[in-house]
Amino acid sequence: MSHTRVIGFHYTLTDPQGKTIDSSTDGDPMYFMEGSGQIIPGLEEVLITLKKGDKKKIDVVAENAYGEREEENVIEVPRDQLPKGDIKAGDVFHSRDGHSPPLTVVSTTDTHVTLDANHPLAGIDLTFDVEIMEVRMATQEEMEHGHAHGPQGHSHH
Ligand code: ZN
Repeated sequence: MSHTRVIGFHYTLTDPQGKTIDSSTDGDPMYFMEGSGQIIPGLEEVLITLKKGDKKKIDVVAENAYGEREEENVIEVPRDQLPKGDIKAGDVFHSRDGHSPPLTVVSTTDTHVTLDANHPLAGIDLTFDVEIMEVRMATQEEMEHGHAHGPQGHSHH
């Protein structure tokens, strides 16, 4: 018998200027399994103390969210190592495996492109307004997969 819980919650994420970065409220709640690393640590440590129906404003400093910006993650690469075509500041490259952080183009010259591998939210203190929609035990399948499967544990991914 598992005692690991799955928690479903709605959230609205804002930056220190109060600008909304992301929100789940137009769609399904977000689900995560305790201890699985599905969500940032600073958010999980508060959510696991709440119960269904609770609403809370949670401030997560950058180091407990997506980390501080690291200047060594800003790298300059020759253009010929990148996909052909027009490359301009603000473009984003996603890694093939989908696990490495996206690379954002900072600037370009005729021969080189400067890329930023920091997470777009690195260095930003975040505020989450959350509402707990569901708390339930993880299913056997979720335990085997190591992540939550949404509303009754049946959604596939
Ligand atoms: Zn799964």
